[in-house]
Amino acid sequence: MNIHTNGSCPLCGGKHQTEYAYCTDNVISGESYSLLECKDCGLVYTANAPQDKQADKYERLEQKLKLGESPKGMTNMIHYMAREIMLRRKYKLIRKLTYKKRGTLLNYGAKTGFFSDYMIRRNWSVTSVEKFHQERQFALELFHHRMIDVKDMEFLRENTFDVVTLWHVLEHNNNPDALLTKFHKILKPDGILVMALPNINSTDAKYYKSNWAAFNVPRHLWHFRPSVIARVAKENGFIMMHRERMFFDPFYISILSEREMGHHFAFIRGFFTGLRSWWISLTSKDKSSSLIYAFRKQTL
Ligand SMILES: [Zn+2]
Repeated sequence: MNIHTNGSCPLCGGKHQTEYAYCTDNVISGESYSLLECKDCGLVYTANAPQDKQADKYERLEQKLKLGESPKGMTNMIHYMAREIMLRRKYKLIRKLTYKKRGTLLNYGAKTGFFSDYMIRRNWSVTSVEKFHQERQFALELFHHRMIDVKDMEFLRENTFDVVTLWHVLEHNNNPDALLTKFHKILKPDGILVMALPNINSTDAKYYKSNWAAFNVPRHLWHFRPSVIARVAKENGFIMMHRERMFFDPFYISILSEREMGHHFAFIRGFFTGLRSWWISLTSKDKSSSLIYAFRKQTL
């Protein structure tokens, strides 16, 4: 499943594709990209996304915010508070899924290391992988936590980890199959893969259409819905065992969408659209703005 295909669907090889949305990168480049949907399997992906090293230029690196420093602006403030609450929820989820108080964890796409640090402080043995030097450096300065580069993953031993986490990471990766195969190898037989992903079937995605901020082109290459990520995981030896909503994402993404559209009262408008999306997701989990998925290794 490589993003750079010659016209056929990267997931099923199907030839029937239509334009799903036409999105503009409002964050970095101002460039526009078509999202294509495969009519055979439902995969949606970014067409003509920049390749490898070129793609790195479009990535937005984490702002350097020191511990205890208060963030500026309402949206940043919410982001900051939400992160604290989510760290706790992620920790609780991992304990619930693994039945373990402590264990071994690989945090892939660890960014500046907030989650890794949270788990280390709760006595988990954490290995963090981050491709950007700047973010690895930040983690080292802030948490004294040394992260490894993606290319150093070849040194990880098989059957080592209880959990692998990817918090909003897989949608950036140009070859999810290779990554999932690697995780399958390094996870213990009863190990668990946990991934958070935006959901194109969400109420807020349907409302904002091409302006939905979580399309985030060209940084997001894949635009998953629950059925498609289940299939991608299954083809790489994983079975979905759990899904759950991410509480803050409908609000955050809706406010961001309103902002990028240049609307007045973006915060208020986004808040109410987010509230509606959140409300609907209470009874329809698969319409959540983002979902956390947990997978077990399939017994062969
Ligand atoms: Zn397909």
